[in-house]
Amino acid sequence: MQNFFGNLKQKLARMLYGVYGQDELSKELSTFGLICLIISLFPYLKIFYIIGFVCVVWAFFRTFSKNHARRMREREAYLKFTAKPRAAIRLQKRRFADRKTHDYYKCTRCKTYNRIPKGHGKIIITCPKCKNQFEAE
Ligand SMILES: [Zn+2]
Repeated sequence: MQNFFGNLKQKLARMLYGVYGQDELSKELSTFGLICLIISLFPYLKIFYIIGFVCVVWAFFRTFSKNHARRMREREAYLKFTAKPRAAIRLQKRRFADRKTHDYYKCTRCKTYNRIPKGHGKIIITCPKCKNQFEAE
């Protein structure tokens, strides 16, 4: 019996050797696919079943693929395409985490957010990016 599991372990290790593994695209595809599959349980929303199934299968395909160069190109394209929403989400997370100690002010010229400690009253902020000065409370 122990020999059987030992052989199985070796076979699995040999099979998984060199697979691409998971990256951001695979993880988010499988999450999105599972959400679609759950939505498809409601009546008249069967189209989500197909979308969810395709996403989950695609995520599995990417994870077990051995064509690393192609998977990395797909990942790069995905990260480039979703860079702005990712940055917006990251900023909102930081703002929420710092909500008791810091305020965020948008620069009036370059629209960059500046993180300022709370409790200083009326202050003049100098933007570190464009050196523009603006007033904030
Ligand atoms: Zn600025």
